[in-house]
Amino acid sequence: MTLSRRDFFKAAGLAIGGALVTSGPVLSKGETDPNEYAAMLYDATICVGCNACTNACRQWNNTTPEPDDRQVYDAPKELSADTWTMIQLYQGENDYSFVKRQCMHCIDPACVSGCPVHALQKSETGAVTYDKDRCIGCRYCMYACPFHIPRFEWDVAHFPVITKCTLCADRLKDGLPTACAERCPTGALIFGKRGDLIVKAEKRISDDPARYVDHVYGKDDAGGTSVMYLSGVDFKNLGLEDLGTRPIPEISEGTADIILPGVLIGGPILLGLIRMTAKRGGWEDTWPL
Ligand code: SF4
Ligand code: SF4
Ligand code: SF4
Repeated sequence: MTLSRRDFFKAAGLAIGGALVTSGPVLSKGETDPNEYAAMLYDATICVGCNACTNACRQWNNTTPEPDDRQVYDAPKELSADTWTMIQLYQGENDYSFVKRQCMHCIDPACVSGCPVHALQKSETGAVTYDKDRCIGCRYCMYACPFHIPRFEWDVAHFPVITKCTLCADRLKDGLPTACAERCPTGALIFGKRGDLIVKAEKRISDDPARYVDHVYGKDDAGGTSVMYLSGVDFKNLGLEDLGTRPIPEISEGTADIILPGVLIGGPILLGLIRMTAKRGGWEDTWPL
C-alpha cells in the first residue's frame, strides 16, 4: 500500500502537533519511590542458558522467532525489532557466563527524556513503555540509550517504529509478574519490588562472597535501573559497562529541545529536496510519500 503525500503530511502534522500540545503521562522525578517499582533480578551465576525466558517473551508478546541457519532453533544473535530479550554467552580463558539482554527500565531513562514526542514514557509501575501511535521514527531514543536497547523496524516500509521490552506492562496492570521471570526454571531471574530485590541480591553476596563480584549492577549504575544483575565475572565482560551513578538524562538533558525544532524546520526542507530530486529523476509519481 502506498501513502499519498497528503496522508503523510496529515500524519506528520498530527504527530508533531501532539508533541507540542500534550506533554504525555510522564511522571516527574520522585513521584514514586523507586524501591516500590516492579523489578527483576538476574543472577548470572545461576542461569543455565536454557532460553526459556526468551521463549516466554516471544509467546507473550507474539514476536517472530529468528531461526538459526538450519532453521531448527530460535537463535537470535542480537536484540532486534522481534527479539526483546535474549541470552548471550561470555567465554573467557578460564571462565564463562551467560547474560540476559533486555531493556534495563532505568529509574531516570535517557530514552524518555530524549524522545521529542513522548512516545516513550516512565509509568508508575517503573516500566518504561512505548506508544507506537506517537512515535515519529526519529530514532533519537536509540542514540540516547546508554545500553543500546531500542531497535527500529528496518524491514517495515511505512511508518516503522521502535520496539523493546516493556517489562510486561500489560501483565503488571493485572498483578502478574513478567512472563520471562515467571518461566525461569532455576530462579536465575526473579521478579519483585525493586527494594526487596536489592535486599535479596546483597544477601546473596554476603552469604557467598567467593561466588560473586561485590556489586549489584543496576542498584545505582546510570542512576539505578529496575533490571538488576549479579555476576561471578567482571560486569564489563558481560557488556555491562561502568556508567557511573549519575542519571544519563542529566548529561543529555536539553538535546530534545534542539531535536524538535530541527525536525520542524529541517523536515520540510528535506522533504522539499527529496521531491525536487524525484521530479528531476522522473520518478515523482512512484515516490511512496
Ligand atoms: S535501557 Fe535504554 S531503552 Fe531501556 S529504559 Fe534505559 S534508556 Fe530506555
Ligand atoms: S519483561 Fe516481558 S517484555 Fe520484557 S523481556 Fe521479559 S517477557 Fe519480554
Ligand atoms: S529462563 Fe532462567 S535459567 Fe533459563 S536462560 Fe532465562 S534466566 Fe537463564
